[in-house]
Formats: sequence, C-alpha cells, structure tokens
Amino acid sequence: MLSKWWWRFKMDRGSLWKRVVWAIHNNSRSWSFIPAKLSLAGPWKQIKKLSDDFEAMGINLELMFKGYPGSEKQMLFWKERWLFDVPLCEKYPLIFQLETNKNALIRDRVIEGDAGRELFYSWVRLPTSVAETDELDSLSVAVMGFEFGLGADRWVWKLEDSGIFSVNSVRNKLQHNVFSDLRLEFEWNNWSPIKVNFLVWRLIQDKVPTTMALTRRNVVVTNSRCRMCDEEDESALHLFGSCRVADQIWEFISRWCRIRSIFILELSDLANIHKRNRGSERWKKAVSMVTQAAIWVIWRSRNDAVFNGKHPNVSRMKEEIKMLGYMWLKSRVKLENLAWVNWCNFDLYALGV
Ligand SMILES: [Zn+2]
Repeated sequence: MLSKWWWRFKMDRGSLWKRVVWAIHNNSRSWSFIPAKLSLAGPWKQIKKLSDDFEAMGINLELMFKGYPGSEKQMLFWKERWLFDVPLCEKYPLIFQLETNKNALIRDRVIEGDAGRELFYSWVRLPTSVAETDELDSLSVAVMGFEFGLGADRWVWKLEDSGIFSVNSVRNKLQHNVFSDLRLEFEWNNWSPIKVNFLVWRLIQDKVPTTMALTRRNVVVTNSRCRMCDEEDESALHLFGSCRVADQIWEFISRWCRIRSIFILELSDLANIHKRNRGSERWKKAVSMVTQAAIWVIWRSRNDAVFNGKHPNVSRMKEEIKMLGYMWLKSRVKLENLAWVNWCNFDLYALGV
C-alpha cells in the first residue's frame, strides 16, 4: 500500500498527486488534520496519512482519479483504473491470476499495428474454464472498443467536470456528497474541528463504539453498564440522551444558550438541536457548535471513565464545553471582540457573531 503511493508520487503522473497534497496543505486552516509541513525527505508519509484521513471520512482518494491513456499507454494494464471505474485486476480476477506479468503496461498488451489493434496476452496457462474464457471475452471486447487519447497519458480528477483537481471539489465532496448520501441531514459545521464533526456524524448513525454497539458486533463486553451513571446499559441514545450526566449537560446548554429544553428522543436529534430554535443562521451555527462541543466532551469524559476509571465531573465538563467553544470561535472564526465574559453570557451580539 505504502509503496504504491510512494511510487505514484515518484512517477510524477505524478504532478497531480503532488498538487493534491500541496493544495490541501496550503489550505491548512481548513484542513488542520493534515500534519505540518510536507517534508521533501519523506513525502510518502504525508501521502499515506492523507489517504488514511480520507478513508476515515469514507472516501477512497484513489477512486477520485481515472486514467485516460493516450498513445504513450504507460499506465498499468491491470492495476490502474482506465477502462472501467475499477482496475482490470478486480474486474477480471480469474484471468489476472493467469497473467505472467502483473505489472504489465497497457502498451505491453495493446499494440496498434498496421492491421489495426492487436492484443498480446501472456498467460501462465491458457484460460480454459467457462468463467475464465467469459472474462477474457469481455475484457477483449472492452479493450478493442476503447478509444485511446492522442498524445500523452492523462490523469483526471473525477470530481470536477474539467477533470482538473481543485481543493473545493474535495471539500464539497466531503461536506455534501458524503453526508447527504446518508440522508441524515447532517450539516457540516466548520466552526468546530473536523474530528468533532466526524464524531457527531458517526454518532447519529449509531457508529460510536458504546458497549451496546460493541455487543451488537459480537465483541465480548464484561460490563455493559454506563460508566457515567452505572444505572443503565450504555447505548449511544442513553449515553448522549437519557443518562443522568447527559441530562445535566443539556440542561446547562439550554440555560446558557437560552434555547428550548433539549429532548433527545433519537440520535438524529443530537445534530438538530439548533434547528428547533429561532435565530439567524450564524446564531444557529454557534448553537450547533456548542452542542457539538457538548457531545465531544461527553464522549471524552465517558472514555476517561471507561479507560482511566475517572468519575465524571459535571461542573468540569460544563467548563470544558465553554472553553472549547471559546477556543474554536477564537481560532476558527476570528472574531475581533471575543471577550470571555460575553461568551460566558452567550451574548453573541456583543461578540459580533
Ligand atoms: Zn448513564
């Protein structure tokens, strides 16, 4: 895996990958989860990291590229995406097994001769079974019908009609496509960090590893009780909704932000608290940021209780929520009059939100 990324980077097909990394890197404010400077000594580390980050967001970065081989035909015949949206080794696994050179280039297999296009396969043994010959027929028909470009091979960024990579297309993909695919009405809030958005997003899909969620996945859990209250089994809905600790947190949030009482009846409610209240878009965004901070703090305290045996301290959790919200506003929204006292009164008007 690693070597493939490194290879891609080095091969300079190349420049496109570099631009991905650089472009995202240069926007580090909105992409803070990409680590520091891209060191020229070891760019593959960052590329690896980048693909991991994307994968964590449910995006396969590699799928965003498609090859358009021209007359050079220097892409890997079996392993790169060009003929279909999947590489040929995945689409035709049986005959790929029979290939003698798994890294053959397109030009090794497809020759444009005087008599037209010819296919040169090289097999360990000839495809014989029905399944194998079916694959071979299907592959051959597709290759014979493919229109190669003129000139150099190209890589195309699939998220833009122009085929040219742009940071915006990545961000849009992350923020809209991925989330709206799930029809969960999850609104990305760029006032809180990506990892926090991600937690909430996973939470409303019930994908946060509470003890009940682990039990569902057949993980043996010795104690399924909620460690925050020790009264009920720990499901996500309990931990973030009905638990005594969560209840006090939501009570605090509704008083502090002067919003309606918060009732969590289903997990999606956790992402929609701000929508149940009237206010400007920016006011709602601030309330949503605060609720995200609350969810983040509840989850962190829960982990502290589970893994470090620390008893939850509700007043400290409240302080932490206030502090996190303040820090996020300060670093991510860049307000000029961000006085702590105004934040403690949730006086958004005075803060200039
Ligand atoms: Zn509880």
